[in-house]
Amino acid sequence: MKLCRFNTDRLGVVFADQIADVSEALDVLPDYRWVPPQGDPVILHLEEILYRIKLLLPKAPRHPIHHLTLFSPVAAPTKIIGAPVNYHAHLHEAEQDHQINRGNVVHKIDEIGCFLKACSALTGPESVVRIPFPEERVDHEGEIAVIIGKAASKVTAGQAMEFIAGYSLALDMTVRGTQHRSMRKSCDGFAVLGPWLVTADDIADPTCIAFELTVNGEVRQRADTSLLIRNIAQLIEMCSAFYTLLPGDVIMTGTPAGVGPVVPGDRIEVSSPTLGSLGITMA
Ligand code: MN
Repeated sequence: MKLCRFNTDRLGVVFADQIADVSEALDVLPDYRWVPPQGDPVILHLEEILYRIKLLLPKAPRHPIHHLTLFSPVAAPTKIIGAPVNYHAHLHEAEQDHQINRGNVVHKIDEIGCFLKACSALTGPESVVRIPFPEERVDHEGEIAVIIGKAASKVTAGQAMEFIAGYSLALDMTVRGTQHRSMRKSCDGFAVLGPWLVTADDIADPTCIAFELTVNGEVRQRADTSLLIRNIAQLIEMCSAFYTLLPGDVIMTGTPAGVGPVVPGDRIEVSSPTLGSLGITMA
């Protein structure tokens, strides 16, 4: 099932070019006064919500998708995790290109593990993303994102896939500079997620999800998840060894070769036969 968030706080199911409004399913969400439960509320209650959706769908009003505004399918992750240099071909280009490595040694993911992006960087699939420092190079990184479905602590790669709620496309936007990744990948709008969440049961083979990225229509990145250095299950094992992954947490699994700079006015599109497509404009 393809679950989307539209018009700020509406829940939809995507069918080709239409969205069925199943926002009534959100009635199962509990009220709280102060301390919310940890995790994205919709993903925390996804099982109940999916059950409600199935009851609502036959009578749910449908709208043409282009009449609605899509938002990040996860509204409130507790963590957005990034996987640094996780495709061999990108490792090679990062080692060769001073404009990418900025004189730093390119460390391998097995040495340094993953990094965190600020959750305030999260934005939706039709966003305008502002370049914060005109004098600095800002790159696109098209990626496959995994959305965690249930709390995962110290899980093995063998168990890991059971903890996944679904998949989305992502952009891990990046300032090329000498700052820590947690700063230069956390600018407002630098974590793009969408266009919707495809539930895990709808992805036949998560070890081979294909995607490509274009800038102004020109293909810049093309890969699939079989080419990851650390695959999805291994990333979950690696991260959950250090901290508990919570429902709604997002793991951006890494970018393939072909990263490059963007400037105001550029249109970046990321698309996948299984996950749909998103398109943002740089400003
Ligand atoms: Mn990345």
